[in-house]
Amino acid sequence: MRSRYAIFAAALLTPALCLSSFAQSRFTVGTASAAPGQKATGYLEVPAGVDAATSIPVVVVNGAKPGKILALVSGAHGTEYTSIIAIEKLISALDPEQVTGTVILVPLVNIPSFEQKVPHVNPIDNKSMNRFYPGKSDGTQTERASFLITRGIVGRCDYLIDYHGGDLEDSLRPYA
Ligand SMILES: [Zn+2]
Repeated sequence: MRSRYAIFAAALLTPALCLSSFAQSRFTVGTASAAPGQKATGYLEVPAGVDAATSIPVVVVNGAKPGKILALVSGAHGTEYTSIIAIEKLISALDPEQVTGTVILVPLVNIPSFEQKVPHVNPIDNKSMNRFYPGKSDGTQTERASFLITRGIVGRCDYLIDYHGGDLEDSLRPYA
């Protein structure tokens, strides 16, 4: 009786499993949700807490073929422009039909630094946005953003590259 029930249950479950594996091939980060072969833009919405809310732009390039998940993150320091520009160019250049696996692109983590031209820190809470991982859901804006990035990106990708570059006060001409 028990084994007959098990077979019946398995027969019922099979189509459900197929459906769920199909649904899993859609990839979502924050409000960006892409089906296989698609590119989607959205935001990691950092809610207001002890200080203001912020919205961090995120792009998901879900390749036509399944594979590893790569995350490319820049602008934790919002005045290190070279890597921010590089990721923005890559967003337009990547064709999801040609991609195997999934690429998550975050071109600018530290929006207040970029907007207010403040190097090194997030001017909202005066914290460096690459020094507070894994973050805290009830912390300041930098900690809340780090918490969301940890849960939504760091914890889900196979590889992550965190880009930095010369900052506002650096003299880079000798290296160019
Ligand atoms: Zn940096």
